[in-house]
Amino acid sequence: MGKETALIIGGGMTGLAAGLVSGLSVFEGENVPGGICSSYYMRPDGKKRLYESPDDGEAYRFEIGGGHWIFGGDPAVLEFIRRTVEVKSYSRKSAVYFPKTGLFVPYPIQNNLAYLGKAVASRAIEEILSAPKGTPKTMADWLEQSFGKTLMELFFAPFHELYTAGMWIEIAPQDAYKSPVKVSQAIRGAFGETDPVGYNVTYIYPVEGLNTLAGRMAKRSNINYGKLVSDIDTNKNEIHFSNGSGEKYEKLISTLPLTKVIEMTGLEVDERPDCYTSVLVLNIGAKRGPRCPDEHWLYIPQSDSKFHRVGIYSNVDVSFLPFSSRKENDRVSIYVERSFKGGEKPSSEQIESYSRDVVKELISWGFIVEPEIVDPTWIEVAYTWSWGDSKWREASLSTLQESNIFQVGRYGRWIFQGIADSIKDGFYVGAAVGKS
Ligand SMILES: Cc1cc2nc3c(=O)[nH]c(=O)nc-3n(C[C@H](O)[C@H](O)[C@H](O)COP(=O)(O)OP(=O)(O)OC[C@H]3O[C@@H](n4cnc5c(N)ncnc54)[C@H](O)[C@@H]3O)c2cc1C
Repeated sequence: MGKETALIIGGGMTGLAAGLVSGLSVFEGENVPGGICSSYYMRPDGKKRLYESPDDGEAYRFEIGGGHWIFGGDPAVLEFIRRTVEVKSYSRKSAVYFPKTGLFVPYPIQNNLAYLGKAVASRAIEEILSAPKGTPKTMADWLEQSFGKTLMELFFAPFHELYTAGMWIEIAPQDAYKSPVKVSQAIRGAFGETDPVGYNVTYIYPVEGLNTLAGRMAKRSNINYGKLVSDIDTNKNEIHFSNGSGEKYEKLISTLPLTKVIEMTGLEVDERPDCYTSVLVLNIGAKRGPRCPDEHWLYIPQSDSKFHRVGIYSNVDVSFLPFSSRKENDRVSIYVERSFKGGEKPSSEQIESYSRDVVKELISWGFIVEPEIVDPTWIEVAYTWSWGDSKWREASLSTLQESNIFQVGRYGRWIFQGIADSIKDGFYVGAAVGKS
């Protein structure tokens, strides 16, 4: 057992940032850094994930957690990213796709009503203006009060049913920034004039893949791989790993999901635990289909296989394709996301059958022709949600703090945030709790 000090658990973006500024040891369960922000490569005829591009470049690049684009964020954090890796900047190209009619409406739908025709556009504007206002208790209330019946039925209700795995009618409103509401923009969009809005109008991505960012941050940290924390003894101030070893701590910086850390410590929190959704990410490498769009990603309100988002990595940058296809752009590198209620993980047979269904559906849409790679990843805690009036999050964080456990990052603090904000959180907690 190591000597007492402050330790960091989890070597994703948050833990790496904390490790880098503090010099403290980071304990990571996997054998690679970056958590869900890491790229990998697969040869078209290969079955193995490679963590570096092969020398001949003949491989698809994918992300473990589906497309991870770096948007927003504190300028100082963006400066840190730029100094760590070479990045390129991109302008968002995203849309809502209605597979039954083949219609693409640029994101956000409420600012592009002209695409839906005059009758729907004028009804939608009238309903946005006259929607009953009040204090929304649930995400469904918030959407209804913001967008009215027509847009709800057409897009917001079926999309959020899939995106939240049915929980949108119970959970508190949360990520409102993803559906910005501004009546003047909606009216302009009804006449076909609109400006791009929202949280990710432009974004950056490392030229050689997101794994280069995690890899370089890991090189500057003291990271220990293969150290899966199995339980935390808050009486003895010890963490135990699944391989039987352990470490003593004085203070623990934890980037692991709040739900899991409460379970690992066995501490009692007298509140109903908040909920989360898991996401099954399916990465597909295929011959490009005749009707494959140019968008970077699409929001899908109806799909037979129940996925809600399809992203096309190679539309963002052709470096996601095997080298021989980059000029012709005759292949496509795709991610498909489907949500599940927290922890309702399908069996491997169900995942196989789902994967076959997704491929069939994308072929029928004309997005792909022949799949070469179909590679799933299960993300157990992907989107964190809260019940209306929930006090569980605050109660859990303060219970852990009393035991010298500082939760940090998107999953640690049970909040919605991207990579740049996760790095920022890691920096400040690492600096505050690190070696003095
Ligand atoms: C589907 C999806 C799409 C997203 N898209 C974007 C995007 O486009 N842009 C963006 O900025 N953000 C995006 N995000 C958010 C982004 O992924 C997070 O902000 C970021 O990953 C948070 O980093 P983290 O280090 O806090 O968590 P994680 O990446 O989850 O890292 C936690 C680390 O802890 C390790 N770990 C877990 N359990 C244990 C254990 N018991 N013992 C030891 N180690 C353990 C894990 O292996 C992992 O390395 C997306 C998230 C999801 C789910």
